[in-house]
Amino acid sequence: MARYTGPLCRLCRTEQKKLFLKGDRCKSDKCPINKKRASPGKDPKARAGKRSDYGVQLREKQKLKRSYGMLEKQFRIFFDRALHMPGITGENLIGLLERRLDNVVFRMHLAVNRNQARQIVQHGHILVNGSSVNIPSYLVKPGDVIEVKESSKKLNVIKDALKEDSKSGTASWMTVDVDALKGTFVSVPHRADITDLADIKEQLVVELYSK
Ligand code: SF4
Repeated sequence: MARYTGPLCRLCRTEQKKLFLKGDRCKSDKCPINKKRASPGKDPKARAGKRSDYGVQLREKQKLKRSYGMLEKQFRIFFDRALHMPGITGENLIGLLERRLDNVVFRMHLAVNRNQARQIVQHGHILVNGSSVNIPSYLVKPGDVIEVKESSKKLNVIKDALKEDSKSGTASWMTVDVDALKGTFVSVPHRADITDLADIKEQLVVELYSK
């Protein structure tokens, strides 16, 4: 699957919001958002005017899409799926995004960010219910057991991520055995559980795609 390969901090600077696309750096003083670096590109004065409704909706969609490291085509497929599910479309969308295997690996602290989690999955280091799955967009279901393949348990990238993220708590919708590098996706999280995306207004994404 195609993916964005440009500078990650630039995406945060465009949105003027921390999207936590890197690891430790995002929590440090080196983060350009902490340093209040301006948006990239045009003269800031040229962008100072009030945004149209469309502009606001577009930026909200970009924030959500980029937080999960997705490109437009696949994000739209997820939206269309959320639209046809019972319930609130925006919340369905976030529930689906949280069920992506690369996201689950990231939430288990086996990777410092979702990009790294995607690579870990693509390189075949992850088992779901005992079977190897190398598709980052694979949707995990409640009750599924996700674990690192025995031969991959010594990978430095995983050990380093666990060390770095050891102080972050486990997501409330998962149980994780850190020593066994194994966890269970207990349930699809409620919108309120996703605190790191608390300020994203997914309803604006729904409005954008409903035009
Ligand atoms: Fe860069 Fe992370 Fe800061 Fe975003 S949050 S600007 S990815 S360091």
